[in-house]
Amino acid sequence: MRVEVAVIGGGVTGALVADALLQAGKQVAVFDRRGFVLGSTPASTALLQFEIDQPLTLLSRRIGKEKASRAWWRSATGVQALRGRIEDLRLDCDFRAREAAYLPGNVLDVAGLKAEAEARARIGLRSAFIGREELRQRTGLRKAGAIWSSGNAEVDPVKLARGLWRSARARGAMLHAPVDVVDIEPGRRGVTLTTAEGAEIRAGAVVLATGYELARMLHPKGYSIISSWAIATRPQARALWPSRCLIWEAADPYLYIRTTADGRALIGGEDAAFEDEAKRDALIPAKVKRLEAKAKALLPGVDTKADFAWAGCFGQSATGLPAIGRVPGAPSCYAVMGFGGNGITFAAIAAQMMQRMVLGLRDPDEDLFAV
Ligand SMILES: Cc1cc2nc3c(=O)[nH]c(=O)nc-3n(C[C@H](O)[C@H](O)[C@H](O)COP(=O)(O)OP(=O)(O)OC[C@H]3O[C@@H](n4cnc5c(N)ncnc54)[C@H](O)[C@@H]3O)c2cc1C
Repeated sequence: MRVEVAVIGGGVTGALVADALLQAGKQVAVFDRRGFVLGSTPASTALLQFEIDQPLTLLSRRIGKEKASRAWWRSATGVQALRGRIEDLRLDCDFRAREAAYLPGNVLDVAGLKAEAEARARIGLRSAFIGREELRQRTGLRKAGAIWSSGNAEVDPVKLARGLWRSARARGAMLHAPVDVVDIEPGRRGVTLTTAEGAEIRAGAVVLATGYELARMLHPKGYSIISSWAIATRPQARALWPSRCLIWEAADPYLYIRTTADGRALIGGEDAAFEDEAKRDALIPAKVKRLEAKAKALLPGVDTKADFAWAGCFGQSATGLPAIGRVPGAPSCYAVMGFGGNGITFAAIAAQMMQRMVLGLRDPDEDLFAV
């Protein structure tokens, strides 16, 4: 088979990248070894946050103020771009714009949150510190204060990814699964992919959107694989907090909560740095108890008992930033590893960057996310 661009990976990242390449008039073929939307994407709790896991103040200390500001802004425009694309394609995916409350914890206390809110406001992001009373009125939460942000959202990740794939297929993308790509050979005029069955695919360029598994091949610096757990409560629309904002803690391990279109609370966190699936799944009952108890302490009026519980993995970089760009030493090969709890926002950024790079154009933030 010959194709202009091959995309490996049938999750939300591959879907957004394929959509952006089709927008640029490229011929696209996509391969997944499992099936479409069967990797990490369906495990996602899908808070669409511009708020990167690493607070702006802490990220500034690690990579400098100018780069950290650019990363936070690129993340904000990533959420906006995703929203725009969902509207353009009229995807029915329970997308809702949401405000977010970021609560004090062992990463940032109240003083830290105030400094963080000021730093964000200085670069023009829509975040402000609110005190105890205002927080109680908006959310019912009894905490000393929080950063209140606008510009976030939530989505059903399966509906989003499936909607994108349906649209891509209708516009001519060739979708193939199960196809395991076992070898990638860059050459002078493109890339040759070999599948487990021995078929060859010649592509002008290849985008690896293979999720956290990719890091085993590329070994980015400071990278680790994280196990994460989540529960969904029974539907209880009347017991949920008035603003239905996203709630998350400046804590390690953190807790985050959102609501769903059918009135459930979705609660996640308790992250731990290991990948062993059997060990991860064996921990589900204990992690469920912790999530139920922690959420109950925050939201006494909500029945936090799990109706569903699950676990999944994602990659994490030392800075919380994704790796998006050219694969070093492999011409015409591009990789996307949307690290951390913002993987979907980062996938939206990756789609913009992959479109430019495959067209031979530069992206202003290449240096921030270089693989
Ligand atoms: C519990 C949990 C909660 C999360 N919460 C959030 C959140 O609130 N907000 C957020 O933005 N992100 C969140 N994330 C992260 C987010 O879900 C992921 O970043 C995102 O879904 C990754 O999508 P992907 O398409 O890159 O990977 P995947 O969905 O894993 O897709 C990659 C695909 O590549 C295929 N593949 C791999 N290697 C090959 C190969 N050699 N040949 C062919 N196919 C191959 C796999 O089969 C897989 O289907 C969460 C993740 C988890 C696990």
